[in-house]
Amino acid sequence: MAAPPILTTHSAVTPAFVARLPKVELHVHLEGSLTPDTVLRFARRNGLGLPANTAEELRAHYTFTSLSDFIRVYLMCAGTLRTPLDFAEATTEFLAFQATQNVRYVEAFVAPKLHVANGADVDTILTMIVDAAAESYPQTGVRLGLIVDVGRLYGADLSVPLARAAVRHQNRGVVGIGLGGDEASGPPSLWRESFALARDGGLHLTSHGGEIGGPEYVWSAIRDLGVERIGHAVAAVRDPVLIRHLVEQRIGLELCPQSNVQIGVVSSLQEHPFGVFREAGALVTVNTDDPAIFANPLNDEYLAVAQAFALSPHDLCQLSLNAVDASFLATPDKALLRGEMISDMNAALASIGWPPLPLSA
Ligand SMILES: [Zn+2]
Repeated sequence: MAAPPILTTHSAVTPAFVARLPKVELHVHLEGSLTPDTVLRFARRNGLGLPANTAEELRAHYTFTSLSDFIRVYLMCAGTLRTPLDFAEATTEFLAFQATQNVRYVEAFVAPKLHVANGADVDTILTMIVDAAAESYPQTGVRLGLIVDVGRLYGADLSVPLARAAVRHQNRGVVGIGLGGDEASGPPSLWRESFALARDGGLHLTSHGGEIGGPEYVWSAIRDLGVERIGHAVAAVRDPVLIRHLVEQRIGLELCPQSNVQIGVVSSLQEHPFGVFREAGALVTVNTDDPAIFANPLNDEYLAVAQAFALSPHDLCQLSLNAVDASFLATPDKALLRGEMISDMNAALASIGWPPLPLSA
């Protein structure tokens, strides 16, 4: 009888295994997913100037040491989205890219404030995105749940009409609202009205918190806005009571480790609180944030986290299943997706000589 394989932790996590692992992404911005080629194409089509003529020249501008540096790049890319066709094409390209990462379901942010300021109509934007997602599904196999980012950009006042628009589209692919942008623009409590309106309208709620702001911003998002998930959550590591609360309340953590490293929130992946949150039993997920800007497709993100925290193939499967649990899908849809993913995960595990997931997974 052959000896059983020696199960080491991370040596079995190869790029081929990660590529084969079915995934769910919960924190990614549509605007931060526009490739340099697409940004250039939209800019030309819409007669907009950019400080670059080629993708390489544009990428040379993607250097940042802080969130405000990053936001400048993000706004440059996002500002090229102008017409209904742009939003449809951006969505189709986004979902085709998600398919290359073996993502089965993605919840993506769109932040209409900037687009509305540029003359777009919010209902048209949301319609173009959800229609393009429905059209591309037969080719990509990737389902989209759209989250309207009522955003810190331009303050809280304009957020209320956006929350209303999100509610109007909730049965057509909009699953929630979110709050992104620079936390220095004010505590989450300023957005209480928009979030109450969305919650009463039946939408799910998430907020970026503890990326630049302290743990009190995470507390405020939970207590003042009633969010079910927190994006980034890095600063929560400084507050043990908060960590316990996140664990006990099963608040999903949309962690974006390489994004945090690139803009200097943490000094290295090893310093990221992913490991602390995971060991505490929090519902941790791994996400890309803005993959076209950070150049971190989800497969790379999974590989990087596996290497930094010595995760096994089973750990990576669990990480991916956490994203199903933390998603805004309805309970029967979660069960269906979970079953499909576990079956594919077991096939991926078998391909590297690993046993199937325990039934409790
Ligand atoms: Zn984000």
